[in-house]
Amino acid sequence: MNLSNFDLLAAVSEITKNHHKSKVLHALIEQLDKLFECESVSLHKITNRGEGPLECLVKKTKGLNLELLPCASRADIFVKQCIESQQTIVHANAGSLPSRILIPIWVGKHAHAVISLFLRQPQQETIELIQQLSEISANLLNTIHESEVDTLTGLLNRKTLELQLDELFYEQQDDDSDTHEADWLVILDIDKFKSINDIYGHTFGDEVLLLFSNLMKQNFRSSDLIFRYGGEEFVVIIRSADEKYLGMILNRVKQAIQSYPFPQVGQVTTSMGAAVINPKLDPNTVLEQADKALYFCKENGRNQFAIYHQLIDSKLIESAELTTDIELF
Ligand code: GH3
Ligand code: MG
Ligand code: MG
Repeated sequence: MNLSNFDLLAAVSEITKNHHKSKVLHALIEQLDKLFECESVSLHKITNRGEGPLECLVKKTKGLNLELLPCASRADIFVKQCIESQQTIVHANAGSLPSRILIPIWVGKHAHAVISLFLRQPQQETIELIQQLSEISANLLNTIHESEVDTLTGLLNRKTLELQLDELFYEQQDDDSDTHEADWLVILDIDKFKSINDIYGHTFGDEVLLLFSNLMKQNFRSSDLIFRYGGEEFVVIIRSADEKYLGMILNRVKQAIQSYPFPQVGQVTTSMGAAVINPKLDPNTVLEQADKALYFCKENGRNQFAIYHQLIDSKLIESAELTTDIELF
């Protein structure tokens, strides 16, 4: 191996010019492949907020282009071992068989991905360089992550919601197929939260926000994206769910919250308004629809959920032109 400082710096520059987590990881495996002439490189992404199944996301085999490979790699015992040990694993092979190097990438408190490379007779120096490039990438991923989350609850923040919604609407505008289930936007607002602060103090209020966020993480699906939208307001994006299933999820969340014994405070409830993500509309209009459904819940006893178009269909609210004097972003 004869790598110059220039080659290495060029690779670092290619990796660090990215601002999205998945792009950083893709750039990392592209650069590893380019620098070390790997037999193959693959990226195993850990879904489910760090606890769930693994997906082998991309794989590059010598001489071929990056390939998207949505396959379950839970069965890959070495990937599993790499996450559990939180360390680089090297399975050295002499002779014609390539050695395998697995490197875990941690973001925040969770394993985020595992990079797996097959290399012929790698030297110690090569392994260390691969580790250092992975570490630089992990540092960048952590910086990106910190800018995406809310510090109190650890949920995604409002800025990230804005970006994700733009991406989602853009993605769906290009998608002509009518085959997939609807995506939904749900706004949750804790009922009478001001009185929790007033009676028990701000510290207990914050504790409720934290426990409430944990209950959401436990009761929405691992694939649902949960954001802190404002003080005691949250937004959840639920992908591919039919209306009946959406109702089941929201009911499960409602029950979980109302039956949880919040320390000192006791019972806390939430109201939720949902609207379908219609790519023909814009994100602010969908947010406004969900907000109207939420407002209906607040006006009609709280501790319940409502779906915007059902309220319109049953004439419980007016379908008049939505007012746009609310500046949502
Ligand atoms: P409703 O059922 O109609 O939603 O009533 P509410 O009292 O929950 O609504 P309101 O919007 O009047 O009150 C929200 C309160 O949330 C007011 C504000 O002081 C509090 N709040 C906002 N952000 C935070 C925070 O980060 N921590 C704490 N403890 N309280 C917060
Ligand atoms: Mg509110
Ligand atoms: Mg409230």
